[in-house]
This record gives sequence, C-alpha cells and structure tokens, in this order.
Amino acid sequence: MTLAAGRPYLAIPGPSVMPDAVLQAMHRAAPNIYEGDIITMVQGMVPDLQRVAMTRGKVAFYIANGHGAWEAALANIAGPGDRVLVCVTGRFGHGWAEMAEGLGIIADKIDFGTTAGIDPARLEDTLRADTAHSYKAVLFSHVDTATSLLNDPRPIRAAMNAADHPALLMADCIASMACEEFHMDDWGVDVAVTASQKGLMVPPGLSFIFVSPKAEEARAAMPRVSRYWDWRGRIDPERFYQFFGGTAPTHHLFGLRAALDMLHDEGMAQVWQRHVTLARAIWAACDAWAAGGTLRLNVTDQRLRSHAVTALGVGGRNGSALREWVSGNAGVTLGIGLGMESPEDPKGEGFFRIGHMGHLNAHMVLGMLGTLEAGMQAIGVQRGAGALSAAAAVIAEG
Ligand SMILES: *Cc1c(COP(=O)(O)O)cnc(C)c1O
Repeated sequence: MTLAAGRPYLAIPGPSVMPDAVLQAMHRAAPNIYEGDIITMVQGMVPDLQRVAMTRGKVAFYIANGHGAWEAALANIAGPGDRVLVCVTGRFGHGWAEMAEGLGIIADKIDFGTTAGIDPARLEDTLRADTAHSYKAVLFSHVDTATSLLNDPRPIRAAMNAADHPALLMADCIASMACEEFHMDDWGVDVAVTASQKGLMVPPGLSFIFVSPKAEEARAAMPRVSRYWDWRGRIDPERFYQFFGGTAPTHHLFGLRAALDMLHDEGMAQVWQRHVTLARAIWAACDAWAAGGTLRLNVTDQRLRSHAVTALGVGGRNGSALREWVSGNAGVTLGIGLGMESPEDPKGEGFFRIGHMGHLNAHMVLGMLGTLEAGMQAIGVQRGAGALSAAAAVIAEG
C-alpha cells in the first residue's frame, strides 16, 4: 500500500517548495507592462533584493535559469583570450568553468576535490604566481550543490588581498542566497550570481546578478559585450523594458514580490538561523544513522557543511532505492547524487541529497527524516538508532 497521497514534499536542492503566497500572487490576469503598478513594483524590488544579498551594489535581472546568469556574469567582465581562475569544490565549479570556455575565456581550475573546501593558501600561491595579473576574476561556489560544501567567502577574499591581486571575486550564490548568511559588501564579493528557484522560493526562470562598483568598472573596460547579456541597461534602466532586455517576466515578478515580502517579514538573520537549526537537526539524525551502518555525510567537517543541502552516501544502489521508496510510498522527493560517480558506482546510485532550502520548517524536516527512517527500514539499510530523537532534540533546543 502506498501512503503517498496528500501534500507532496519536493526535498531536492532546487526547485524548492513554492509557498502558497507565491503561487497565489502569480495566479492573476496579465498586467499592462507599459504603465502602472508593475513598474513601481519592480523598482521597489531592487532595494529588497539588495537587502537579501546585503549589498549597495546594483542588481541585474535576467529571464534565465542559473546557467544563464553564470554566462551573463562572465560576458560582462571577460572576453575571448582573457583568463579566469575557478576554485572547484564539486560539480558546479566545473559547470561555471565550462560556461567561460564557451565564451572563449581561458578558465584555469584549482580542484579541491569533493569533500574538502577551498584552501586559501593554495589560492594565494596561485595568485602570487600570476605576476602579470592575467586573471580577471576568481570564481567559486558559495555552496556547491552537488557535494554540499559551503565555502566561506571571507578567507578567499583574504587570500586575494594577501596576494595583492586585483581580480574580481565572483560568487555563485545560486544555492545559498537567502539560505546561508551572506554579506556581499562586507565580505568583499564583487559579483554575486543567483536564481529564483532555490532560497528565493519562486519558480525557475529568473536570475539575478549583483554588481559591485569595481565590477562596473570591469564592464566599462570591455571592448564589447553581447547586447542581451550586457548588464548596463539592466542595472541602470532608462526605460522599463531595459530591466529585462524586453518584455517583463510578469508572473515571476508577482511571485518574487510575495517571496521578498516573506523573507523580509521574517528577517534575513532569522531566515539564515532557521536554515542553520534545521540543517543541524538533519545532521544529528544522519550522525545517529551513520553510527550503526553505512550512511555517511559527504562533508565530515561541520564548518564546511551547507545549511541548504546535504549530500549523503549510503552504499550499494541504496541511494536510488531510498529515493524511489520515499517518493513512491510517502510523497517525499529527494535529490539524486550528483557528480559522485566512481568505478565501483558508475551511476552514483549509492548517493542522494536532501534539499533543505527556502520555504521549510521544523515539521517538514522531522517528517522528511521520519520518512527516511521508514524507507531505510523498508529496503533493509542497516543503521544506528535514535536518529529521530536526536533531530527532535535539536529542534526542541531551538
Ligand atoms: C542550481 C545551481 C546552478 C544552476 O542553476 P540552474 O537554474 O539549474 O541553471 C548553478 N550553481 C549552483 C550552486 C546551483 O545550486
């Protein structure tokens, strides 16, 4: 018998759960885009987005998923033959580097593997060796969504300053924005890229680039930028259509308005803290399971763990089997293991991920963990006891 009927829970690392308030805000007739409320609404969203990224820098909207914003960010600061340095801590660093290569940019990579964070000393050495200052930017993922590694921007910025290197610091905040604590200006990030469907709780299809004054200077020095990706009209629009390089993505914007209201009503500090506490509850359960079986958190050092997504290994093809069981029997959809393939496990079926980003509260996390317990029982995964009470204890402490 399946017990999956009822409200489903999409616990993958994006798209995330859409709040009813967002869905309801989108459910309306098409608005006039030439005058009226939508224009003031969009102008009003700029400062609210800046307060999510904690920046006074400008913001460019793109009607694109995160991949589009990756390409747009690069297209504004580098061109064919220019170099960037990519710090890779999982699948997503490789992805951004591939976007650079597609633009003719030379993307050198430092690969830190899939279980360790960025080593600032290695970055500093690489930047010191670049005496010609050929790197126009250092790219990294704030959260790598495949490995669930969290990279603190501060030591990265410190390494760049120690090497006295003028490159821009560019952060992929697609999985982390409105989930992880982030202060773009105070932490010295020049370009931050994000998308609508993760911490921002809006359907996929909108993305954002936050641009520091130094990044604006880098754009001004470019001989040319493809017209559609150029952020200049978007960050300083004289006409409304320039925000979007064409027709506004009307209904995404209504959804985003509702989502920004939710975030700021709760308060960014509280949003971040909620993600921390819910993540700690998940880790507590996973540690208890791990103590008596094969389940492993991909990131052992707690300080390097994302509070928005958790990558887990459970051996054999049990990752896939667990995902199938919980979606078929309990209405919970978990994320696939990404970038975890190995000769022993060519399809990465021993891995899965829990997305815990965005519109998420304690009962959803406890329900998801209880469902995982049932799934492991049903498919016969050996595990330690006490996982649910360990998670409940974290929630009870608050
Ligand atoms: C989701 C994600 C992307 C890709 O975003 P799309 O919207 O799927 O193109 C890039 N980087 C990170 C860190 C992500 O989590």
